[in-house]
Amino acid sequence: MTVEAQKETRGFQTEVKQLLHLMIHSLYSNKEIFLRELISNASDASDKLRFAALADNSLYENDGELRIRIMFDKEAGTVTIDDNGIGMSRDDVVEHLGTIAKSGTAEFLKNMSGDQKKDSQLIGQFGVGFYSAFIVADRVEVISRRAGLAADQAVHWESAGEGEFTVTNTTKESRGTQIILHLKQEEKEFADGWKLRSLVKKYSDHIAFAVEMQKDTPALDEEEKEEGAEKAAPAAPEFEKVNDATALWTIPRNELKDEDYIEFYKHIGHDFQDPVTWSHNKVEGKLEYTSLLYVPGRAPYDLYNREAPRGLKLYVQRVFIMDDAEQFLPLYLRFIKGVLDSNDLSLNVSREILQADRNVESMKSALTKRVLDMLAKLASSEPEKYAAFWKEFGQVIKEGPAEDYANREKILKLMRFASTTSGNQQSVTLDDYIGRMKEGQEKIYYITAESHAAGSGSPHLEIFRKKGLEVLVLSDRIDEWMMSYVHEYAGKSFQDVTKGALDLGAIEDEADKKHKEEASKTYESLLAQVKELLKEKVEDVRVTNRLTDSPACLVVGERDMGAQMRRIMAAAGQAMPEVKPVFELNPDHPLVKRLNEEQNVERANDLTWVLFDQAALAGGESLKEPATFVSRLNKLLLELSR
Ligand code: ADP
Ligand code: MG
Repeated sequence: MTVEAQKETRGFQTEVKQLLHLMIHSLYSNKEIFLRELISNASDASDKLRFAALADNSLYENDGELRIRIMFDKEAGTVTIDDNGIGMSRDDVVEHLGTIAKSGTAEFLKNMSGDQKKDSQLIGQFGVGFYSAFIVADRVEVISRRAGLAADQAVHWESAGEGEFTVTNTTKESRGTQIILHLKQEEKEFADGWKLRSLVKKYSDHIAFAVEMQKDTPALDEEEKEEGAEKAAPAAPEFEKVNDATALWTIPRNELKDEDYIEFYKHIGHDFQDPVTWSHNKVEGKLEYTSLLYVPGRAPYDLYNREAPRGLKLYVQRVFIMDDAEQFLPLYLRFIKGVLDSNDLSLNVSREILQADRNVESMKSALTKRVLDMLAKLASSEPEKYAAFWKEFGQVIKEGPAEDYANREKILKLMRFASTTSGNQQSVTLDDYIGRMKEGQEKIYYITAESHAAGSGSPHLEIFRKKGLEVLVLSDRIDEWMMSYVHEYAGKSFQDVTKGALDLGAIEDEADKKHKEEASKTYESLLAQVKELLKEKVEDVRVTNRLTDSPACLVVGERDMGAQMRRIMAAAGQAMPEVKPVFELNPDHPLVKRLNEEQNVERANDLTWVLFDQAALAGGESLKEPATFVSRLNKLLLELSR
């Protein structure tokens, strides 16, 4: 006996312990999903064997008929799931059934609150997998042999799900994995043929492999039993297929129900919640492929982790090739899950080959359109569902205009914005906005800010309020960066209201223009004087008609980086070239009038500085010398009270 064969006891990784604990407590009302998860794993293992056998046919070991078997023993209170898939080596078992490979799990688990309702949603988003066995079992045994290894290289794993497991070497004639669930006292009802069959039908009808169960033998009455006992040992049990066993995506759409699609999603998506929508298409022509694309209900916890696996499950002529084939969708659609089955790719395709294949490029662009159309359809037919989708994934969609220039217009159509009309909710479409444009309005006005409150309270919006013009208020971190890639929509150009000279086009009436010209004359010397005082800080000083209530504001150049972007870059440690803004004064504001009349030079200077600092503050910036601002302000306040 080798040292390895000896029984070894190991502790689960901390994260596994936490997950197990949470799962057992929060998935109590969904306990039957354990069967789907274990069948799903058996199906994955069968897929993997088929793939490996493409290169090495001997792995079939003369048993090429892949199937999953479910057995049960009422008396013993056990349910067994048996597959002849790829199997696991001792190392595989220790790694896969003792740790969680996904990075960021520990951090994710920290978000758990102990509130069962909330946590079960979080767990759902994480995917429950193998460990769900412990929802119904207080002891789980796994006996597995990796395809290609000798019979005595099999492994026996066992755990009560309480922090430890044991591994021992063992012997297993057939390759694959057998999972024996020793049901908890109160879960014994699962050791029942009728129950198990109905669960297989409900959850695993359309996986690609046969799920078989022991044939029902008619119940024997007492007398027959006695007689039977005298007869020879019963023959080996006969099995029959209980599911449809046709890969779902190969079935015509009109033969499938919503529930079929939903259950299949849970199998391939490793998700426990329902998808929001899906799109199933068979493409024939120059390229032949079938795609089934799903929009998940929730963003995964690692959506912004660049290393997180993403992409479609790739099949070539019904043979599983790889998970997470990321070459078929752009990054901003990385949350889409699904299956792609191609007839054109070769069975020995690799990630490297995919990268260079020109067919892949054209499939990618077709699939991208498909997803964008599916989202557009969701938006128009089920706006509430779409609103929930936008909340989860809107930030990722906003990466789209930069990444996918060709589809910019379609992506913009999918966007939802907050505005001065809608309030804090991101609910306004660009089409809504354009529909509400005032006569003579040519541009789509927007402001970017740190928060919705800061944006909608900005002095720059005063003239827009006065004229009844809607302004989009963009306060997501990504917004200003995104807008640098967005120039127009439906022939209308975008205008950042904090940038450049205000040009309201035809909306500005003659009286407005005239008033501004006159004010420029009246204030000519004041403007020069202020400019001289602030020359280190500002590019120019001018009068404006964009303000109604505020005395002054700061405006950056049309091509300069806006305040929000500068803050983000600075926070990321980027050195920023200094941008001098234009200081604009409201000629009708009493403080500006007062400044114009002020004879005392020192007081005029103080007032100028206070107005300048105020404008910076109102624009969401922080002051370099806040104490100086406060003391100047207090000095003015004291003079006022005298
Ligand atoms: P997931 O299926 O999302 O990877 P699971 O928790 O369901 O996560 O399973 C963990 C891992 O354990 C699988 O990725 C696989 O490597 C291994 N595994 C589980 N069940 C089987 C099985 N029946 N045959 C082979 N490997 C398995
Ligand atoms: Mg799984």
